[in-house]
Amino acid sequence: MSANDPNCIFCKIVTGQIPSKKVYEDEELFVFHDIQPWAPVHFLIVPKQHIPSLAQLTSEHERLMGRMMVLAPRLAAEQGCNPYPEGGFRVVCNTGVEGGQEVHHLHVHVMGGPRPWLRG
Ligand code: AMP
Ligand code: ZN
Repeated sequence: MSANDPNCIFCKIVTGQIPSKKVYEDEELFVFHDIQPWAPVHFLIVPKQHIPSLAQLTSEHERLMGRMMVLAPRLAAEQGCNPYPEGGFRVVCNTGVEGGQEVHHLHVHVMGGPRPWLRG
């Protein structure tokens, strides 16, 4: 598994070849607004490394996935999601075609903000 797949749209976003509205970046993770938001707040957390989906994860990725989950509530609050429990947010990780995955670079959707939402 290469760190970067030249045909992958999210690898191109991570490297800046395709523009995005960046929310957050560190050495391992990149976060940007979804181009077709379902909710008032909708951003995607991706590893910089090209991992196709949850299906490819091994024990080596436990720390990385833990970091993504711990980052989600922090960025959700920063982006305007209301506090738990009245507010909150939804975390979705579509996996494989039958799981609804369209972009095959692992990503976690974080959606929130006041109802109603466009979808979900
Ligand atoms: P999924 O169905 O889980 O693979 O979702 C892929 C998500 O990526 C969709 O919600 C798209 O709107 C989003 N998306 C696709 N291309 C871009 C892009 N260039 N910038 C931001 N989000 C994108
Ligand atoms: Zn990729």
